[in-house]
Amino acid sequence: MSNEKTMDNESTMELMARAAGQEAPEAQAAPAAPAPKDKPQYPSVALLTCPNCGQKQFKIIGTKGSLGKAIVGAGMFGAVGNMVMDSRSKENFELLPVKYQCLSCKNKFEALPLVAEDEEVLDTPCTIVFHRLGSPVGMAVSQQVFLNGVKIGSVKNKADLEFQTHTKQNTIFVTDQYGVAFPGEYTFTAENGGFVEINYKRKFL
Ligand SMILES: [Zn+2]
Repeated sequence: MSNEKTMDNESTMELMARAAGQEAPEAQAAPAAPAPKDKPQYPSVALLTCPNCGQKQFKIIGTKGSLGKAIVGAGMFGAVGNMVMDSRSKENFELLPVKYQCLSCKNKFEALPLVAEDEEVLDTPCTIVFHRLGSPVGMAVSQQVFLNGVKIGSVKNKADLEFQTHTKQNTIFVTDQYGVAFPGEYTFTAENGGFVEINYKRKFL
């Protein structure tokens, strides 16, 4: 009689264990099940390769004169809107193919970002603060900041832009107001819940 409670506890635990045991094989049996439709998709350029030679080292040319059609709205990468904390830019973002030049074969091509693979996605997003340091050259011009091939927003002289990344490997580049990329890009590996500060003054410092 005195161990009745213990028995109850044990049977509850048994039930829970059995329930867990039933779920596990199901999950293992269907590894190729399609991802749920509401699963967020994050842009990534980590696996982008030259369509001509397959190499992964590029010079970023920018979005100017891009032949591809801009995709406007939050349809393709639902999470892109969430990367920008500024609510004004959250509603309407523009996704334009970015022009690259392969450093190996000099082939120029345009590409949209790829959807990040599961193992590339962070459990907790990493926050990025982009500081545009004051520069008397072109100070009136707003610069466009791109994360993983997607325009995050524009940043004025001596201003900051705060956003988040959901992927481990990241590439940031900056263009002028016409979409011409400034030389150089910033690549880094983000950590779960991390915080990255980037200083920029016409180049990454
Ligand atoms: Zn190539």
